[in-house]
Amino acid sequence: MSRYSVVVVGGGISGLAAAWELSGGADGPHDATPRVELIESGERLGGSLATTTFADRTVDLGPDGFLARRPEATALVGELGWADRLEPIGASGASLWLRGALHEIPSGLALGVPTSYDAVAAMRGLSWRARVAARRDQFLPRRLEVGEDASIGAIVRRKLGAELAYQFVEPMVGGIQAGRIDDLSAKSIFPLLLEAARRGGSLMKAMRPVAPAGSPGPGATPLFYSLLDGMGSLPVELARQLVQRGVVIRRSTSVTALRRVESTHRFEVDTDTTTTPANVVVVATPAGVAARLTGSFDPDLAALGTIPSAGAAMVTLVFSRAALRLPEHGTGVLVPLATPWRAGGSMLVTALTFLDRKWAHLHRDEDVILRAHVGRIDDRRFEEFDDDALVARVVEEVRLILASTGDPLATMVQRWPEGLPQYYVGHDRLVGAAKAAASRAGIELAGSTYDGVGIPASIGSGRRAGASALARLA
Ligand SMILES: Cc1cc2nc3c(=O)[nH]c(=O)nc-3n(C[C@H](O)[C@H](O)[C@H](O)COP(=O)(O)OP(=O)(O)OC[C@H]3O[C@@H](n4cnc5c(N)ncnc54)[C@H](O)[C@@H]3O)c2cc1C
Repeated sequence: MSRYSVVVVGGGISGLAAAWELSGGADGPHDATPRVELIESGERLGGSLATTTFADRTVDLGPDGFLARRPEATALVGELGWADRLEPIGASGASLWLRGALHEIPSGLALGVPTSYDAVAAMRGLSWRARVAARRDQFLPRRLEVGEDASIGAIVRRKLGAELAYQFVEPMVGGIQAGRIDDLSAKSIFPLLLEAARRGGSLMKAMRPVAPAGSPGPGATPLFYSLLDGMGSLPVELARQLVQRGVVIRRSTSVTALRRVESTHRFEVDTDTTTTPANVVVVATPAGVAARLTGSFDPDLAALGTIPSAGAAMVTLVFSRAALRLPEHGTGVLVPLATPWRAGGSMLVTALTFLDRKWAHLHRDEDVILRAHVGRIDDRRFEEFDDDALVARVVEEVRLILASTGDPLATMVQRWPEGLPQYYVGHDRLVGAAKAAASRAGIELAGSTYDGVGIPASIGSGRRAGASALARLA
């Protein structure tokens, strides 16, 4: 009997992880392993996981690390035989740019939500109104009826007031997916906040068990990992080992259509030049493409096209070490949205990351490498600037925040027009219905649209899709 055939559409980290699972996962291929073909429209595999050589270093163009608490990425790195290339983060904490000054973010926060009045009192730069709001939550908490889901903003604003919501919580939670807390779903992104709100009473008190217990001590699992050659090295190695396992990888080839057929194979997968028969298809593309390819099978799959995706740009800068005054501690600075800019409007930079404090392999004694993040779901101003103008504006803002003198020694702009799906209120229902429809149609969905944004979540999503495809074949 000929082998079953599975096609994976999309060669980002979730599609590659699906192919890894389909080709035998940790154990490798065996007699029942199907033929696996992965089709990627770009020249490169890995989506936003990519590195380049810059300022005598290997620097990531996209994600530079991942959450270590979730097991999926570390497990995959271990299965590739790369555990010794994991690099723990070298610093913790961050500062907030508030009212024209840098303030270290105190401990006792759970994703930006203060868990005691002390945490609020320790935060300089807040107005008396914010402190009164926190006191009120402590002694006379406001009532809030939350239904099945609510926005993070609606919960935090009601309980702790607008200032804490937009100056504290939004920079932290919103920054992860370049979204706005007034739209982002508490159920999908911050379920512990929803639970705490449901419990009633003081939100700060209800969040207390959720707050991390400070920096991990020696020997403990670090909060984040990267890889010694950057996160972009992960898809390269994964693809190399997939090819060794016999997985067919096609780049620079877009899947143009997915058709159901009445034959021993259930699907045909079209590109401009080929048609591949498949028993199961794993669709590991951004939501819009998934909707286009599968929408005709079911309206719940077409609805994936309504999920918006944010874009961002990252400006990497190298300064002479003597030219910057960095805060004493921490991996970077968060800048609340709508922070006024002296020339009018608001600041473009939403965060600064001190790359060489985070990752030892990027450290050089003589200079500092940092990255400025710009862009939000509702702030695409960076698209109006060409690279030179964007660098010039970002450098001005960095000068203000870090009291820097002198010009950068090297600069690099990387734009990601999209890639950060927005989990709006009701996201879980939309995704649940799409997954059920996909399952009925014999399709697996994978990627950062479904089970969490981030590398570990995407890997987990890909591997589950691969395992589910194998179960279908069995
Ligand atoms: C700027 C930025 C910074 C980030 N920082 C971090 C971070 O620090 N830590 C972290 O954990 N996560 C971070 N993330 C999130 C993380 O990168 C994503 O969760 C993850 O890479 C998503 O992988 P994916 O495979 O689901 O999607 P993608 O990487 O988008 O992969 C989908 C692939 O499908 C391909 N494709 C599209 N259409 C077709 C078609 N018709 N045919 C064939 N192929 C197609 C695309 O070319 C793409 O390669 C960041 C994301 C961005 C954009």
